[in-house]
Amino acid sequence: MENDRNWAGNYRYSASELYVPANVGQVQEMVARSRQVKVLGTRHSFNGIADCTESLLSLQNLNRVIALDHAHNKVTVEGGIRYGELCQYLHGSGYALHNLASLPHITVAGACATATHGSGDLNGNLATVVHSFEVVKADGDVAVFSREKQDGGIAGAIVGLGGLGVVTKITLDVIPAFQMNQYVYDNLPLVHLKEHFDDIFSSGYSVSLFTDWKKATFNQVWLKRKIADQAFDQVEPEFFGARLATSHRHPVPGHTSVNCSEQMGIPGPWHERLPHFRMDFTPSAGEELQSEYFVPRQDAYHALCSLDLIREHISPLLYVSEVRTIAEDNLWMSPCYKQESVAIHFTWKPSWEAVKQVLPIIEKQLEPFHARPHWGKLFAMPPARLQSLYEKLPDFQQLLLQCDPQGKFRNAFLNTNIMGD
Ligand SMILES: Cc1cc2nc3c(=O)[nH]c(=O)nc-3n(C[C@H](O)[C@H](O)[C@H](O)COP(=O)(O)OP(=O)(O)OC[C@H]3O[C@@H](n4cnc5c(N)ncnc54)[C@H](O)[C@@H]3O)c2cc1C
Repeated sequence: MENDRNWAGNYRYSASELYVPANVGQVQEMVARSRQVKVLGTRHSFNGIADCTESLLSLQNLNRVIALDHAHNKVTVEGGIRYGELCQYLHGSGYALHNLASLPHITVAGACATATHGSGDLNGNLATVVHSFEVVKADGDVAVFSREKQDGGIAGAIVGLGGLGVVTKITLDVIPAFQMNQYVYDNLPLVHLKEHFDDIFSSGYSVSLFTDWKKATFNQVWLKRKIADQAFDQVEPEFFGARLATSHRHPVPGHTSVNCSEQMGIPGPWHERLPHFRMDFTPSAGEELQSEYFVPRQDAYHALCSLDLIREHISPLLYVSEVRTIAEDNLWMSPCYKQESVAIHFTWKPSWEAVKQVLPIIEKQLEPFHARPHWGKLFAMPPARLQSLYEKLPDFQQLLLQCDPQGKFRNAFLNTNIMGD
């Protein structure tokens, strides 16, 4: 393969060839004749989840919107579309998605496969709005998973970790387009979360807290609000002890804010406020690593205090940490399965040897809270521990075996972390 690395450059794919099919027929034919194959999205995962030793397949040419169903508020897209492309189209048609990740450059299928999420007390992860999808299975046949089928299969399949086959078509729920604004506040003491966790995170449609763990303080609060939300039409100079920022901010202290989504309360469309970074800023590669852990919402304050105890281990290796809330869902392999959740994210400097040492320390601190790692990021958790955190794991294993009895779509990541080989 010519470009054999992921977006961050920390992972080198071991596959020997990359297929780029032009249509679903070619996908079926390539899958049927391959011995082992994995789909590559936009390569934004930080571990080997998208890798295999034989063939990779990219759906970069299957990136169209197929249909917008005004009667049922649904959009159907091809499996290679990226959020950036979809959002432009939806907004132009008067629609929106309920939420987005911090950047719009990832594919819809790749994001759903790893339960990618944004923030917001009432917002489930991005896979929760999938109404149905089609997948080319190992034998080349197409299977359909849909909420309309009574078998409940979609709940098991949509956070599929790339193990079911090639997702070629997805139908998503859409909502009417909306306007938002975004304010940043500086310096929120961690201790203020003790009494006000719910007040803070319910203060906007999507709320993120950022810290560099140099102090027991969140350097920034990013508050994203729907403009029509009458409850939030005032901007206060102070927010639970934090002060309203007087200029644009980048989450990483000292970085220029030029590539960040618009702040200072300037109104704009949903897809230009929900991500932290601008659509037209497309970094081709990242000089960073990422990890993220999900804890039950009710434990979040204590989990953060546990991390505060080891901040001298974290801070020197870190660009920034972000704390977000995610609504519970019923998706088997989602870290938010039946659990209102808080995600504690780490953007690391690209020093893997050092980061590798600190991940077990973090995981030990978070162990009492049954923290689950993000599927697409870096973690150190032993497979047995990881597996014990997912009550639907046996059902998911069965689903993988049903869709792919020979393990054509299984790779080292799935064999180790899911199948327990
Ligand atoms: C800068 C940056 C910011 C990020 N921000 C967030 C964030 O805000 N929130 C969050 O939760 N995560 C975030 N992530 C993580 C990222 O969203 C996930 O790793 C996501 O899975 C990446 O999608 P991708 O399209 O790059 O897929 P890849 O990383 O290429 O693949 C991920 C998995 O999806 C599978 N896959 C991809 N396409 C298909 C398909 N068509 N059919 C079947 N399987 C498929 C792959 O086989 C693999 O198993 C971020 C990552 C980066 C680099």
